[in-house]
Amino acid sequence: MVLILYIDMDSFFASCEIARHPELKGKPLIVGSNPPETKERGVVQACNYEARKYGIHSAMPTTMAYRLCKDAAYIEADNSYYERVSSEIEALLKGYGLRMEMDSIDEAAIEVESKGKDSALEIAKGIKNSIKNKFGLPCTVGIAKGKIIAKMACDSAKPDGLIAIDDADVNNFLQGLSVGKIPGVGKKTEEKLASLGIKTVKELAKTEPTVLVGALGSFGKELFLIANGNDMSRVVDESPAISVGREKTLEKNANSVEEMSGMISELAHSVIGEVKKKSVAFKSIGVKARYSDFTDRIKSRSLNNYSDSEEILISTAKMLFSELVGKKPIRKIGVRVSSLSQRKGQKSL
Ligand SMILES: [Mg+2]
Repeated sequence: MVLILYIDMDSFFASCEIARHPELKGKPLIVGSNPPETKERGVVQACNYEARKYGIHSAMPTTMAYRLCKDAAYIEADNSYYERVSSEIEALLKGYGLRMEMDSIDEAAIEVESKGKDSALEIAKGIKNSIKNKFGLPCTVGIAKGKIIAKMACDSAKPDGLIAIDDADVNNFLQGLSVGKIPGVGKKTEEKLASLGIKTVKELAKTEPTVLVGALGSFGKELFLIANGNDMSRVVDESPAISVGREKTLEKNANSVEEMSGMISELAHSVIGEVKKKSVAFKSIGVKARYSDFTDRIKSRSLNNYSDSEEILISTAKMLFSELVGKKPIRKIGVRVSSLSQRKGQKSL
């Protein structure tokens, strides 16, 4: 049976700071874009569980956090440090040789073939221990048959938790939750559901799917399935054998394609170098933007023919990035080619 381990680092940025400042352990800690003494506007990007006891949470203005707890430690976010730790954790997880996917800077999903939840729990314990031993960082792991319910299980067991939900427990687990606990259900969807008299997953599970589709479109159908424990979401493996990609943090946040132009060419050059080394050609090009708030967006396009041209890669990547700029400052970009084919016998453009 296939089970999915959803791994989420506990208050990741704050835990990273505590790992290198052990004297802060046990004290409220706030990581923000501007510490209060700078008197500039800033928000809490992360805080540990000790700070949460004071009612502090992420996205709250730092000045408000300061009013709630003056004695907390305030540290300015060091994003390149967190990204470095994140890629080391990714490398450790890849070492297990299982199908895996990084879902964000501090979340990953891993698929295991398992005889049952006990053996999946064993693997999860091993992962938790190695992350703690190597990095001094706590994480929580949720296990279920689909990625979405595994993530919900993980959220329910924080911090430093481990939980497995199998077929026998899934309905029990879901029934006790409010609809807002389902990933993707934000304030707006919650309000729409509330107007239909639906506040809990239990109520959602008993609603006619046509009613949900009427209110929410195809997302309504997905919610109905999840609420009934039918979670088909799987891990999407981006293994290097099927694509070649490079990404890098920009020296300065960018708001236009022109500002990123040098980095786009640099990444494309490196990707083409790898493509030539592997003697492959590609038919699909994708780009990724990571914004200053650490959300990611991806755009891709298929070519009419296989290619290994750096020029085509650069011009297509720029066109794709033009659809991603302007909304929020971009801090990191990636360029990737996929749908690879051995070049032999293919017409190289
Ligand atoms: Mg986390």
